[in-house]
Amino acid sequence: MIDCDIHILRNGRMFEAEQTERIALLLWLGAKCVQCDQEDLGLLDLHHIYKDGKIDREKIGNIYRYYLRHPAEAKAKLQVLCVKCHRTKGLLLAQVETKITQ
Ligand SMILES: [Zn+2]
Repeated sequence: MIDCDIHILRNGRMFEAEQTERIALLLWLGAKCVQCDQEDLGLLDLHHIYKDGKIDREKIGNIYRYYLRHPAEAKAKLQVLCVKCHRTKGLLLAQVETKITQ
């Protein structure tokens, strides 16, 4: 029981730290959607330009901490998009891929 409480507490702290690092990375990258200039931090996402986000997360783990320590790589591989532009871009890419594979 105590172990479970400690585990939850640790996960809570890790989550909070990761969120802080995510915001720090958004600020480092300009904190503005590159397509529509949205600046509300609550609506901003980090977009992997080369669609390697899944590979990154599997390989690196906490990508926010990693890219804060490798800022040049962050600027080369990530861009800030708002949730609307991020979702639209994802749908467009999915449509392009569907046409290519058909
Ligand atoms: Zn946008």
